[in-house]
Amino acid sequence: MVESRIARACQRAGRRRDEVTLVAVSKVFPAEAIQEAYQAGLRVFGENYVQEFEAKKPLLGDLPGAVFHLIGHLQSNKSARAAELFDVIQTVDSARLARRLSGSGRVLEVMIEVKLSGEEAKHGAAPDSLAEVVDAVRACPDLRLTGFMTMPPWTEDPEPSRPYFRRLRELAEPFGAPALSMGMSNDFEVAIEEGATHIRVGTALFGRRRRPE
Ligand SMILES: *Cc1c(COP(=O)(O)O)cnc(C)c1O
Repeated sequence: MVESRIARACQRAGRRRDEVTLVAVSKVFPAEAIQEAYQAGLRVFGENYVQEFEAKKPLLGDLPGAVFHLIGHLQSNKSARAAELFDVIQTVDSARLARRLSGSGRVLEVMIEVKLSGEEAKHGAAPDSLAEVVDAVRACPDLRLTGFMTMPPWTEDPEPSRPYFRRLRELAEPFGAPALSMGMSNDFEVAIEEGATHIRVGTALFGRRRRPE
């Protein structure tokens, strides 16, 4: 279902399927859900909470080739733990957080989360602070900047997300870090049309979450 939606969107956009990474968002679901998804062929997983994943990770067993992205807001007091648990941190939103993620002894891939909506509850770096955050990440030898991430205001209709996706792509352009993490269950086709390289899909893969995030 999700796979055919991705394939159709790629076809419409004239893009290859392998240009788009499906990040399976397993937050709130138990370790078994990740194991099942792995058995079904998924390799890239997104989690929102450091503590939740800290509890789940030891239960996963050995999943060769699995890659774990942190896609939820990261508080700086959890940065050291996050650097141990995750392979990719999609939600770096300040120079300070970048520096705190550095020095863990592991090389981390990093994306910068950009705040494009005025919503109070949303996190992310302001568009006019991106150069500063990019410089801070690039100054850390153990952080590798791959791209940018954003989350538009949620709407059932995907079209209102399009201008946010387009804006992220335009803002990212000058920095030479090509990954764009954008699009969720409701709007990932539009995100693929606008150049997403990573789509973060939870509900459409795992079903409705019992408790709200
Ligand atoms: C929960 C979450 C998703 C997945 O949302 P769905 O609508 O369930 O696909 C994607 N990105 C972030 C940052 C999330 O918190």
